[in-house]
Amino acid sequence: MVNHLSDATTLANGVRMPWLGFGVYKVSEGDEVVQAVKTAIDVGYRSIDTASFYENEEGVGRALKESDVAREELFLTSKVWNDEQGYNETLAAFDRSLNRLQTDYLDLYLIHWPMKQTYEDTWHALGKLYDSGRVKAIGVSNFEIHHLKELLKGHTHKPVVNQVELHPRFAQKELRAFCQEHNVQVEAWGPLGQGRLLDHPVLEEVGKKHGKSPAQVMLRWAIQNDVVVIPKSTTPARIQANADIFDFSLDGEDVAKIDTINEEKRYSGNPDEIGGWI
Ligand code: NDP
Repeated sequence: MVNHLSDATTLANGVRMPWLGFGVYKVSEGDEVVQAVKTAIDVGYRSIDTASFYENEEGVGRALKESDVAREELFLTSKVWNDEQGYNETLAAFDRSLNRLQTDYLDLYLIHWPMKQTYEDTWHALGKLYDSGRVKAIGVSNFEIHHLKELLKGHTHKPVVNQVELHPRFAQKELRAFCQEHNVQVEAWGPLGQGRLLDHPVLEEVGKKHGKSPAQVMLRWAIQNDVVVIPKSTTPARIQANADIFDFSLDGEDVAKIDTINEEKRYSGNPDEIGGWI
């Protein structure tokens, strides 16, 4: 049972990744991101999820440098963006991310979306970075089962994480089962439905029973489903509240109620469309 903010999952290659991380999509470069990341670290978050696409890696790096927590105690994720993919392009993009983040390694580097033309070369580059020790774990994001099957088929390096849209309305049951079978840790982006599920009556009802908010119920639900979560907030009280999810647990009845929300429908972009597969 996950019952502490410092609890972590062990990835297929032995690396430990916290169940709760802090997402910084749409957090502005500069003071906003620096303040948000510092607040999260003060609260006790040890995992930060950024991407070159978010254009805030410099601020994330500054916050990590200025915090009292040693780099080795932090888990830092970034991602290679769609137009940076390809073998040499990815190696160069990785260097740029490290420079901006002012660090000499990443804990996790992900292919942001499965770009049909370039993802294989990109994956080879991630393998090289992993072998060189400059990244502790490599994985993918927004990969559907058919993309994962391709990647798992002919490659020496296996992705240890798949970061996908996942929340009670889009529970990704099939993908979760596939990933579990293949030792790929699922990580939820948009774990709060990107703000769209916060006043859902079922989540309010379950929350009331435990003295928790719908946001806290959604995060707890994901973790109890063995899914890593990375909620984003720039509001200090919410950054704190999103970490106060380790002192309660959902029972079978709660989970059954939350399951009724599932429509297996995403709110955001379809990976096949974005990646040029259809
Ligand atoms: P989230 O599901 O984390 O929702 C964020 C929204 O919820 C913000 O508007 C925030 O508002 C609000 N919020 C947060 N906590 C609370 C709370 N306790 N009560 C009420 N409202 C709350 O969406 P994200 O899209 O940010 O996803 C999380 C992270 O996942 C991203 O930041 C990013 O790191 C990653 N991501 C990855 C993607 C990928 O393609 N790999 C795509 C999208 C996201 P406020 O800030 O004002 O408090």
